Amino acid sequence: MIDPYNNKEGVADIVINNGVISQVIIKNKIKSLTRKFNSSNNIVEIDAKGFHVFPGLIDMHTHLREPGYEYKETISTGTLAAIKGGFTSVCCMANTNPVNDNPEVTYYILAKAKEEGSCDVYPIGAITKGLKGEELSEMVMLREAGCVAFSDDGMPVMNPLIMRRALEYSKAVGAPIISHCEDLCLSENGVMNEGKLSFYLGLKGIPKASEEIMVSRDVILSRHFKATIHIAHVSTKGSVEIIKRAKEEGVSVTAETCPHYFTLTEDAVSGYNTDAKVNPPLRTNEDKEAIIEALKEGIIDVIATDHAPHHIDEKKVPFNEALNGISGLETAFALSLRLVHENILTLKQLIEKLTVNPSKILKIGKDGIREGSESDLIVVDIKKEWIVDKNKFVSLGKNTPFDGWKLKGKVIFAFKGKKFFDLREE
Ligand SMILES: [Zn+2]
Ligand SMILES: [Zn+2]
Repeated sequence: MIDPYNNKEGVADIVINNGVISQVIIKNKIKSLTRKFNSSNNIVEIDAKGFHVFPGLIDMHTHLREPGYEYKETISTGTLAAIKGGFTSVCCMANTNPVNDNPEVTYYILAKAKEEGSCDVYPIGAITKGLKGEELSEMVMLREAGCVAFSDDGMPVMNPLIMRRALEYSKAVGAPIISHCEDLCLSENGVMNEGKLSFYLGLKGIPKASEEIMVSRDVILSRHFKATIHIAHVSTKGSVEIIKRAKEEGVSVTAETCPHYFTLTEDAVSGYNTDAKVNPPLRTNEDKEAIIEALKEGIIDVIATDHAPHHIDEKKVPFNEALNGISGLETAFALSLRLVHENILTLKQLIEKLTVNPSKILKIGKDGIREGSESDLIVVDIKKEWIVDKNKFVSLGKNTPFDGWKLKGKVIFAFKGKKFFDLREE
C-alpha cells in the first residue's frame, strides 16, 4: 500500500466494512491471503499479494459532455471509464450545453452523477457566462451549489480585467481558477504546433508563445491580487520556466500536465492523424523533456487527463476540421506509470500527482486509506502488460493516438464507498 495522504507505505491488510475502511493493519511481511467468499456472513477476502493498493486517483480535468453532448459521452459512461482507469473522482469542465455557468446546471450534473455515476463527480463552474469571456458567471452561487473550481476551459479568458475579478471572487469563495492558457490572437485557426513540421504538412501552426504569454499574464495577476491560479495542460518548456520562477518567488500557482504531453511529440500528427489533434497541441521533444523534468522536480504538481471524448464523425474529417481532444481516462494511469518503469519518478511521487496534490488544490478533503474513512481505493497490477484497444473503451470516445500501444499497469479492483468493481479481464 502506498498512501501519500497519510505518508504510509508498506504491506497491509485492509478491512472494508459496508463501504467504510474499518481497519488498516500495516505488516512487516507478506502473509498470503486466499480469496474466499463466505455467503453466511458476506465476507470477501481478496489476496492482493504482488499488487499495489493506492487511494483512488483524482482526475481534476475531465470533459464528461453531459448535459448536451451525450452522443460524445455521458456521466454514466464517463465515470465508468474513469473507474476502469483507476480514477474514483473526476472534476468535470463547464463546456457542456448548457454551459455550467449557473447553479441549475451544477445541480443537474450532481443529481445525474448520484443516480448514474460510478465515481465521485466534482463540477467545475464557468468563469464567464456562456464561456464568452465577457461577463462573470454567478461564482458565489456556483460555489454554493457544489462547484470546486472555476474554468472556461476550451476557451481562454482573454480580458485581463475579467480574469482579475474572477481571481478576486475565487479567493472570496475559496475555490481556485483553472486557466486554459491560450492567446487567441496568436493561435487563431492554428491546428498543430508551429514549426518545421507544420510548414512541411501545410497546416497552420500554433506558436508556443500563445500559451506562454497567458501563463505569464496569469502568474502576474495571481501575484498582484494574491489569488491562487492553476495552470491547465502545460505543454511547453517556456511555460515550465515561467511557473518555476513564479513558484520560487512565492506566487500561489499550481500546474498540471497530461500524459500526451510527456509521451508524444508533434510527430504524432504526421500523416494527418486527427486522433493526435489536441489543444494545446503536441509540441517538440525539447518541450516533452522539460515537462518530464518539471514533474520530477515538482514544478508541475498534477497529472490530469483532459479526457475529451468525441464522436468518430468529428475526428474522421480533414485535419483542419477535426475537433481537438483525446479520450484519456482509460490510458492515463498506464501512460503515467511509464515514468515509474523508466525510473524517472518514484511510485509515491506519481501517486501524489494523481491523488493528494489535486485534492489539496481543490480542497475536496480526501483523506486516503485510513480507518473510519469511506473506502476509496484501487488495487493495481503495475507489471501487467496489455494492448490498448480503443474498441474496448468504456468511454464513448474512441479518439486516442495510443490505440495498439503496449502499456504496463492495470487496475484490477476499485472500491468506492459501497461500490466494488472487479476490473479483471477474462
Ligand atoms: Zn483546455
Ligand atoms: Zn480540457
